[in-house]
Amino acid sequence: MSGQNSSTDRLSACLDLASEAFVGVNAEHKISAFNRAAERLFGAAASEALGQDLAWLQPDGTNATPSLVRLVAGDAASGPSMHTCRAEGDKVQDVPVRLAQLAGGEAMLCFSPGPASSQNQGIEEREAHINSVLATVPDAMIEIDTVGVIQEFSPAAERLFGFKRAEIMGQNISRLMPEPYRTQHDRYLETYLATGERRIIGIGRVVVGQRADLSTFPMELTVGEVRTGSRHFFIGFVRDITERQEVRKRLQELQSELIHMSRITTLGEMASTLAHEINQPLSAIANYLQGAQKLLADGDSEALPRAADALARATRQTLRLGEIIRNMRGVAARGDVGRQNVEVASMIEEACALALVGAASQSVRVSFDIAADLPPVHANAIQIQQVLLNLVRNAMDAMEVTSPKQMNVAAQLLSPDRVIISVSDTGPGLDPEASDHLFQSFFTTKPGGLGVGLSISRTIVEAHGGRIFFTPLTPQGTKFSFTLPLPSKGDETAARARHDP
Ligand code: ADP
Repeated sequence: MSGQNSSTDRLSACLDLASEAFVGVNAEHKISAFNRAAERLFGAAASEALGQDLAWLQPDGTNATPSLVRLVAGDAASGPSMHTCRAEGDKVQDVPVRLAQLAGGEAMLCFSPGPASSQNQGIEEREAHINSVLATVPDAMIEIDTVGVIQEFSPAAERLFGFKRAEIMGQNISRLMPEPYRTQHDRYLETYLATGERRIIGIGRVVVGQRADLSTFPMELTVGEVRTGSRHFFIGFVRDITERQEVRKRLQELQSELIHMSRITTLGEMASTLAHEINQPLSAIANYLQGAQKLLADGDSEALPRAADALARATRQTLRLGEIIRNMRGVAARGDVGRQNVEVASMIEEACALALVGAASQSVRVSFDIAADLPPVHANAIQIQQVLLNLVRNAMDAMEVTSPKQMNVAAQLLSPDRVIISVSDTGPGLDPEASDHLFQSFFTTKPGGLGVGLSISRTIVEAHGGRIFFTPLTPQGTKFSFTLPLPSKGDETAARARHDP
């Protein structure tokens, strides 16, 4: 008896040294052994635990029959299993348990919370941390597997696409794209996996996304590839760039407002100089005419030569006025920069590129038809580009509501001394009543139009010794053309002198 006691003591002394919690139960499922580690784990003294029902180790109300009891009774799967147990105070904990059945219906339970539990807790904490980071990332995040099935869908993705995570999980990623990308996507993934050919993965690009309500939006998509152990998946980060494109559009509007403003400023300056210049001869004319009127009213025949002289002076002032106005038009057209021999193709390309900013959104298709080996023209490149800008903008305005939207810019030799440049559109054509007034200042049929583009263009072209005109096109559209002279002999010499040192 004493031998048995001493072996029990030795056993309990050994158990007390163990770092895992050991709980022995007898055939009635009463606690018969409770080592130090168990005291620490369950927050209870051995004296308190011994003799209690095994169910005492589990929190009240977790189960009708506590899972530990079922484990010991052999009703549950054998092998290590996880059980919810009481901890110190009112707390509970999940602890992995192993069971050893002993003779006589006794059993020994080994609870090993230590590393396993803290490791699990660490993993859970890290997972919670990652989830909370992902929940606050402004970019939408979508995880798909190698066949394109959605495995994860972040809160930002829910907001962006208008799909709830639960409804989109398990569906194909192509649900988030419009046709034709929708049908192409599966093939794209297959091709990538088979050949490594990349179009988006690891690169990032702007593509079109489709929301739950089938509306589309431009998005910037960056996709990363992840391989962890046996898993292979892709993570896409999506950013809605509608805003950014709106900002660009706004900038373009500002830019065109600026062009308008600069035209108004130029006109304003011209007008005030003109007013100043013509005020003097105008008041002189008024004086002479008033004088002549008075002399004639008197009916004195001797006054007639004086009246005639006053009228002659008035006529001279009128002619001077005409001269001033002609000069003013010359000044307006000449600007600050002089004329040079300019290469036509590059001048046209540059002006069109500037005019076409924003045309992509209107889906205008532009073609160029520029004759090869065109000789240079003698012109002020900036001013001619201003003319082209006006014509191209007008063509785009005209095509805003028509289809197709096809613009052609052409340049060719018209005669041995002249080049002709034209801009054709497929717009609705000219308003028949407007055709006679197009080149007049302030004539416009557009709600926000200024009506100065064509009149300035004509001033510039004519100051260059050219002509500007329009031709209606069939079945629809208008062609605006202007001519420019080639350099005369003197101009060519001057040009050569500039290039030959
Ligand atoms: P704005 O463009 O400010 O109206 P413009 O002087 O450039 O001023 O043009 C005057 C008018 O000529 C326009 O309002 C429009 O009615 C007409 N117009 C110009 N270009 C075209 C075109 N390509 N197709 C149809 N109408 C045009």
